Amino acid sequence: MNISLPGPTITPISEPFWEGIKAGEFRLQQCEQCERSIFYPRAHCPHCFHNSLTWKRASGKGKLKTWSVIHRAGHPAWQELTPYVVGVVALEEGPSLLTHVLIEEDEIAYNMNVELNIRHIGPHPLPFFKKQEETI
Ligand SMILES: [Zn+2]
Repeated sequence: MNISLPGPTITPISEPFWEGIKAGEFRLQQCEQCERSIFYPRAHCPHCFHNSLTWKRASGKGKLKTWSVIHRAGHPAWQELTPYVVGVVALEEGPSLLTHVLIEEDEIAYNMNVELNIRHIGPHPLPFFKKQEETI
C-alpha cells in the first residue's frame, strides 16, 4: 500500500505561518489591541475580538505540558513512523499548540524546556519540538 502523507491545509489566514516554517522560522500573530500572541492563525483575536493582527517571529521555545505516545496513527501514512510522541507545548509567548515531540519516551518530563525543530516529512516542512539545547 502506497499512501502519501497528508500535508498541512494552507489557507490565506495560515499561509504566513507556513511560509515562516519553510523559511525556518516560527511565527505567531500578535493582536495590536491587547498585544497578546495567538495560535492557531485566525482573522480575529480570541481574547478581545479585534481584527488587527500582525505576524511576528516567535522564539520557538516553550515547555512541554502533556504528551501521549502514539502507537496507532490517525492516518495510515503515519503508521510506519509509530511509535511517536505528540504533546502540548506552552510557548514562551503564551499560546499552546499540539505538536510532534522528538524526545524518547523515557527522557520526557513534565514542564521540560523544548524548542522548534523543523523536519521534512515527505515533501512537507513541519514544526516539531525537541529538547532544548543546554545553554550555559
Ligand atoms: Zn486582542
